[in-house]
Amino acid sequence: MLGFMQDRPLLISSLIEYSGKNHGDVEIVSRSVEGPLHRTNYRELNLRAKKLAQALGRLGVAMGDRMGTVAWNGYRHMEIYFGVSGMGAVCHTINPRLFPEQIAYIVNHAEDKYIFVDLTFMPLIEALAEQLPNVEGFIVMTDEANMPDSKLDNLLCYETLIGAEDGDYTWPDFDEMTASSLCYTSGTTGNPKGVLYANRSTVLHSFCVCAQDGLGISNRDSILAVVPMFHANAWGLPYAAAMCGAKMVLPGAAMDGASLYELMEAEEVTLSAGVPTIWMMLLGYVKENNLKFTSMNRTVIGGSAAPRSMISAFVEDYGVDVVHAWGMTETSPIGTTGNLLKRHESLSEAEKIDIRVKQGRVVYGVELKITNDDNIELPRDGVAFGDIKVRGPWITNGYFKGEGGDVLDDNGWFSTGDVGTIDPDGYMQITDRSKDVIKSGGEWISSIDVENEAVGCAGIVEAAVIAIPHPKWDERPLVIAVKQEGHSVTREDVLKHLESSLAKWQLPDDVVFVDELPHTATGKLLKTKLREDFKDYVLPTA
Ligand code: AMP
Repeated sequence: MLGFMQDRPLLISSLIEYSGKNHGDVEIVSRSVEGPLHRTNYRELNLRAKKLAQALGRLGVAMGDRMGTVAWNGYRHMEIYFGVSGMGAVCHTINPRLFPEQIAYIVNHAEDKYIFVDLTFMPLIEALAEQLPNVEGFIVMTDEANMPDSKLDNLLCYETLIGAEDGDYTWPDFDEMTASSLCYTSGTTGNPKGVLYANRSTVLHSFCVCAQDGLGISNRDSILAVVPMFHANAWGLPYAAAMCGAKMVLPGAAMDGASLYELMEAEEVTLSAGVPTIWMMLLGYVKENNLKFTSMNRTVIGGSAAPRSMISAFVEDYGVDVVHAWGMTETSPIGTTGNLLKRHESLSEAEKIDIRVKQGRVVYGVELKITNDDNIELPRDGVAFGDIKVRGPWITNGYFKGEGGDVLDDNGWFSTGDVGTIDPDGYMQITDRSKDVIKSGGEWISSIDVENEAVGCAGIVEAAVIAIPHPKWDERPLVIAVKQEGHSVTREDVLKHLESSLAKWQLPDDVVFVDELPHTATGKLLKTKLREDFKDYVLPTA
């Protein structure tokens, strides 16, 4: 017997329709590419997203068509999120930091019909256009006055396009499983693979982001989304903010400490979200200038492990709570969030930080387990570590066009490629990517653990740890570090520092200094490159 409840589809358009009607005055503030700060609100955003849907319909865009974006975080990008998905087409966010050949591959693989482009990225698109024969046109995200002088003949102006429409449009109803957005993972090997989100998965994920034990956002928040909208839908924040009518603050291209701090203060930001490298810069700026955060009370750190020194700086020096979150493009992306439990209230600050350093617990909707090589589930004792597997309605089923084959096991679990522990309270801790773990004499050493400790050493700005072959132990860790400019920190200083926190067998066999470390397009350490660069390196202990 079926229940007698209405079967309304969970559509992305319902999020913007809701906030347009119920939080119409709440602001969306953007640092525009053209220069000044731009202010709009949810009422206006809903209207303009509808105009965009009308305009795209007039251009012949149909349900299921992929529409690329090469853009910063800004209000027009947010209108595209809702306008494109709302009409049943697919918003394909493209990471402009990828190599140009990868961008061409992605656009052609996705078969993008049109591409929305921020002015900043016109040179990139002009250089690539010839390799994108199927793209019918490029929609420049600006007004007529700022249209670039370009050799491309299929350019359209965003404002002119939507200016021709009246916004008298009703969001269409369709199957909630209809694809809504597409994001390619910047894998470190092979071609990028597309994760194709659905309307339903996006709306369910938004409930998780809004949940108190998710990212806990509400109408009382002013959210600075530093995490790019081309990276896993800015962790779902644009959708979730529309679900609860939270103010959005979008930084555009200016991601330096001074610009972010200025926005945080001027827009009374309560919550910010970004990767550790961004927060490293911001904390450096705030410290140098002896500043405080007057409204920000929490920050979400994810994408890479948040080092203990960063968490304690936020919490202890600036009174900003840290939500350490873990996820992947494939998980929409929220998998776990590091909120404390009721019974942790009485713990000391240091004990609370011990918990915050872990990547957190699942919120309802995600199932999580760790398994050994035989796919047997391992105990949740905080000690045993194994492959992290996830399952749930906002976890991918496979990649676009079947790339990479069948990615789920017989029971529907997705193997994340991360290795970690789960403690008795359900807090997961990533020890490594499975391919980065260092296998030394039958024991595994977490490269992330050693990196996190190494950046806590005075004078070290960034550190990567890779495995180097060793005749006796199979592999041993090598630290590759970047020094703070002008600092005289030595190899011995780093090793001495690590002795206080690592077991003897986990201590790296050597430390080398480089001017900079290679990163992927999403800001993660590019260890494949380091392994290549150091493939002939001989450890002093070998
Ligand atoms: P991406 O799909 O580019 O977002 O990358 C996902 C990967 O980033 C995960 O599989 C992890 O390896 C890594 N990652 C994300 N969040 C964290 C975190 N909080 N701590 C450690 N690694 C993380």
